[in-house]
Amino acid sequence: MTDDAPLIVDCDVHGKGVAAVVCRHLCTEKAVPLGFVENSDTPGDRQAWCDQCEAFFLEQGDLTEEFQAFNDMALVCEACYEIIRNKHAR
Ligand SMILES: [Zn+2]
Ligand SMILES: [Zn+2]
Repeated sequence: MTDDAPLIVDCDVHGKGVAAVVCRHLCTEKAVPLGFVENSDTPGDRQAWCDQCEAFFLEQGDLTEEFQAFNDMALVCEACYEIIRNKHAR
């Protein structure tokens, strides 16, 4: 990215909105709460992943390729991010 403008995603449900980052597990799992570890809650730069990602990250100690493959981050809009938080936070 070349500027500070927030990244915009075009969400199927909510339309155009500011992008937030979650792991693929949080994005795809709809039934079982996976935990919600928030790494950044800065508006325009929200990032979170699940308990499993947190455990794997602590084990790796860094954002290794292996971790990134496991995490497989997904972009969602901030409205979806809130919904995901409510679903997965314990
Ligand atoms: Zn995860
Ligand atoms: Zn959305």
